[in-house]
Amino acid sequence: MTSGRTLRIAHLYPELLNLYGDSGNILVLKSRMAWRGIEPQVMEVHVDDRPSFSGVDIVFIGGGSDREQKIVCDKLLAEQVELKAYVEDGGVLGAVCGGYQLLGESYLMGDEKVPGLELVDLYTDRGEPRLIGNIAVESRISPQPIVGYENHGGRTHLGPGVEPMGKVLYGHGNDGASGYEGCLYKNVVGTYVHGPLLPKNPGVADYLIARALDRKYGNGELEPLDDAEELAANKVMYDRLMAGEVEE
Ligand code: GLN
Repeated sequence: MTSGRTLRIAHLYPELLNLYGDSGNILVLKSRMAWRGIEPQVMEVHVDDRPSFSGVDIVFIGGGSDREQKIVCDKLLAEQVELKAYVEDGGVLGAVCGGYQLLGESYLMGDEKVPGLELVDLYTDRGEPRLIGNIAVESRISPQPIVGYENHGGRTHLGPGVEPMGKVLYGHGNDGASGYEGCLYKNVVGTYVHGPLLPKNPGVADYLIARALDRKYGNGELEPLDDAEELAANKVMYDRLMAGEVEE
């Protein structure tokens, strides 16, 4: 049965920003839409494209090394005005790690301060050591703890009006000190969680889909799916982390 609904995903720079399988997030979004009769349309945006974000329902940006991040940021700055308008209009945007850092005012690459997209009031500086390892986060956007893997030298600091995605239950999060992870602003979700993020965290996938449906069709209600496998994977990871059974 099809619902006659479609959602258009803009996947930014898949060839550059695909650390730890971040592109797997797109597969999860597509599947969870298709299982509900919502037609997914994916527009891959490559470095020399000049994309239009009108008609886009979900933008996704993965993580990358500093080098790749710099290439991408130079290109993306050309789209800043359009992306800012998209976000302010309630456009859904998911960003992971390097992509998350790009959302802010700036980030530090070595000693160089690289300007960001200024979509969310945050900035990223650096610290030692790199923050590496498994992570679990309690968040209002997921019924289960969000689990995954983080690896970043950057420390992200949120401005006063920006809500974190959640509280760190295990691992480091935004800066290794605040106890918070990621950001939520309008319909933007930024996070350091790779893994990729969505396969073991179906609640986060559904949050993005529901927000996009609500914006486009005025109704974000989602038919439940059988998530037995996804939730078993989530639980095994969470339980092992919290029991101290995983060597970092
Ligand atoms: N280059 C960034 C950092 O190390 C992001 C890395 C990543 O996307 N995992 O902070």
